[in-house]
Amino acid sequence: MLLTLSTTHQPATDLGFLLHKHPERLHEIEIPQGRALMFYPEASQERCTFALTLELDPVQLVRGSGQKGDSGLLDEYVNDRPYAVSSFLTVALGRALGTAFTGRSKDRQALADTAIPFEVVLTPLPVRGAEDLPERLFAPLGYEVQMERHALLPNQPSWGESPYITLSLKATKRLREVLEHIFVLIPVLDNRKHYFIGKEELEKLLRKGEQWLQTHPEKVLITERYLKHRKALVREALARLSDETPLENQADADRDLNQNLAELALEKPLNLNELRLETVTQVLCERGVQRILDLGCGEGRLLKRLLKEGQFKRVVGVDVSMRALEIAARRVHLDTLSEKQRERIELWQGALTYRDQRFAGFDAIALVEVIEHLELDRLAALERVVFEFARPKLVVLTTPNREFNTRFPNLVNGKLRHADHRFEWTRAEFQAWCERVASTYGYQVAISGIGETDPELGQVTQLGVFTK
Ligand code: SAH
Repeated sequence: MLLTLSTTHQPATDLGFLLHKHPERLHEIEIPQGRALMFYPEASQERCTFALTLELDPVQLVRGSGQKGDSGLLDEYVNDRPYAVSSFLTVALGRALGTAFTGRSKDRQALADTAIPFEVVLTPLPVRGAEDLPERLFAPLGYEVQMERHALLPNQPSWGESPYITLSLKATKRLREVLEHIFVLIPVLDNRKHYFIGKEELEKLLRKGEQWLQTHPEKVLITERYLKHRKALVREALARLSDETPLENQADADRDLNQNLAELALEKPLNLNELRLETVTQVLCERGVQRILDLGCGEGRLLKRLLKEGQFKRVVGVDVSMRALEIAARRVHLDTLSEKQRERIELWQGALTYRDQRFAGFDAIALVEVIEHLELDRLAALERVVFEFARPKLVVLTTPNREFNTRFPNLVNGKLRHADHRFEWTRAEFQAWCERVASTYGYQVAISGIGETDPELGQVTQLGVFTK
């Protein structure tokens, strides 16, 4: 496996001062599973490249792992571990470049403190399944991400492609930042566990991620994969990343990880999320609902809240996003629930704009902050799916009040609360829609609001409760 780090900042050979590794020499260090060699394949004024290759001893790898795989003996020796980029590379990097990781440079401190152009290449990097993972991890940090897939056999194109890529990352940053990013994200790309993960790893993650992890849209995924899904550690890390707030509140902050951060930042001071959940739960409780369908359940915050009320015998969440559903499953602890609890909850992948037989037979449907994510011309389809085909006795629906947006100090005038919102309605628009839907499908509707009230602009969230 090979990692290269290049810069074109001139004189480029200053890279040697930043890394504390002389460009003209070959450097070597031992790690328990093998050895790392470091050298500079190019070192000119214009461009300088530092390379680290890792040679792992396959026998040592098996001996040192302390765990037997379940795939038979041969698999333990014959696999891609010695060659493919993995967490071992991070181990070697940490050991070889200790000083550079601290951001110090004996002879070029000013340069160490300056953002300069870097290019990092990692190869061969196994990418199985999550093709877009490198992009999701590195792009939010400002990297230009390029991936080139390797053929299985270079001279036999008909054999198809291998699971390996060459990943190249470009950005203008301080060296320390680049090192921290790759230090944390290589083990995230490598989802296998091959050394003990304990408190020490948790501290490392928080230290190396101190400057950037908290605001990374994939914070949860990074933490989980870095800590190899050790639940207690993950929980602690996430809690500490969000200023010591317990995970329950943290869950709110993680709402709709990729999409809703911006919206959340706007609304968080009002603690609107919780208020919305409480209000919807209350309405459902008051009406004696037992079977509830949460359409567009997202990451399952309402589901989790509903499960706390024994009254709800059947709670089903539907969303089109698998990723959101995975997070929802974790949030409600789907895989560790007791059998009795497990019978109460289900998660389905599905679309809200296509008739779905499964949606029938519920007492109520919740649509919390969902309709504004649909194109206006698909809204009619949702109307029919909910009010004509599923036809529950009760529909509880919330959506932003556009008029209130002027009260958000961070929101540019005229903009919607969230990039994925296709529309946001004024109170008059919401009322007109609710009344039309109610009269078309034979429902009554009561319109109110949730959250802070402005005498002129109304409440921050609009609430429609449809009954039949
Ligand atoms: N109700 C949740 C999530 C709101 S975000 C909450 O209050 O936190 C809107 C959700 O609707 C997203 O999770 C999105 O994936 C889902 N969604 C949007 N359009 C959809 C469609 N056509 N079919 C199913 N789900 C959809």
